[in-house]
Amino acid sequence: MKIIRKINTLRRLIKKVKQDKKTIGFVPTMGALHEGHLKLIQQARKENDFVVVSIFVNPTQFGPKEDFKKYPRNLKQDAFLCRKEGVDVIFYPDIKQMYPEGFKTYVKVNDLSNLLCGRFRPGHFRGVTTVVTKLFNIVNPDLAYFGQKDAQQAIIIKRMVLDLNIPIKIKVIPIVRDKDGLALSSRNVYLNPQERKDAVILYQSLRLAKKMVKAGILETKKIIKKIKQLIHTKKTARIQYISIVDLENLKPISRIKDKGLLAMAVYIGDTRLIDNTILKNPKA
Ligand code: AMP
Repeated sequence: MKIIRKINTLRRLIKKVKQDKKTIGFVPTMGALHEGHLKLIQQARKENDFVVVSIFVNPTQFGPKEDFKKYPRNLKQDAFLCRKEGVDVIFYPDIKQMYPEGFKTYVKVNDLSNLLCGRFRPGHFRGVTTVVTKLFNIVNPDLAYFGQKDAQQAIIIKRMVLDLNIPIKIKVIPIVRDKDGLALSSRNVYLNPQERKDAVILYQSLRLAKKMVKAGILETKKIIKKIKQLIHTKKTARIQYISIVDLENLKPISRIKDKGLLAMAVYIGDTRLIDNTILKNPKA
């Protein structure tokens, strides 16, 4: 396994891989890898001849008051895990490689980027779509892997690839959870022991919503009201948003006709956690 820091070095290697007619699978990450990331990597390994994982904590997707500085970084451990999974290359650029002086160009997916998390993190998805476009242009993969954990991100990337005729197939991998149901996230390390216990309330609220839908309660207002009550039983929890939206345009729906995306962002202490599930009308 190679760790490559320079864009030109990676381009030369990718050229060779392409000449050998090998397919390339790509997993973009910000590092601090956990089982969730590894699931994406394992799927990429299964489906491709050559696997590239990028590790880059992308400054343009963090707001000025967000955790860019304290975001966990651990290349040694990440490299150990990637080697174990049979990754061929870790692309590990520094900020100057990705954003040299004079950088001016951004990619923005309108509308979708301003809803859900976008309402509270202005500029976040513009940062994501810009860096993913750059990484796609550098790595030139056949397939790229994203997690359902960041459902809005996956929907936006799919839209972008379609709109800009980017010849890459996007694969979305189910959410990997801890034993108690908490969705794995690099940010879970911020939680103290009490908060870690309380954090499971996000998963429990998704389960409650699923149960309600199964029982025939399809009015989203009713579902949201109930799960807000449940989350408020934890003292450390502060809801940023809970929405049930259309899976394509991400706009709120009033009733689950067929399917709806239940998405939420909840602060547990000072840590912002996100989670989501797809609600399906059993009678549709
Ligand atoms: P990140 O390093 O947080 O930018 O995540 C890199 C990729 O891993 C994204 O596509 C995430 O959606 C995905 N990912 C993160 N956590 C999980 C998880 N618990 N289950 C599945 N995919 C995940």
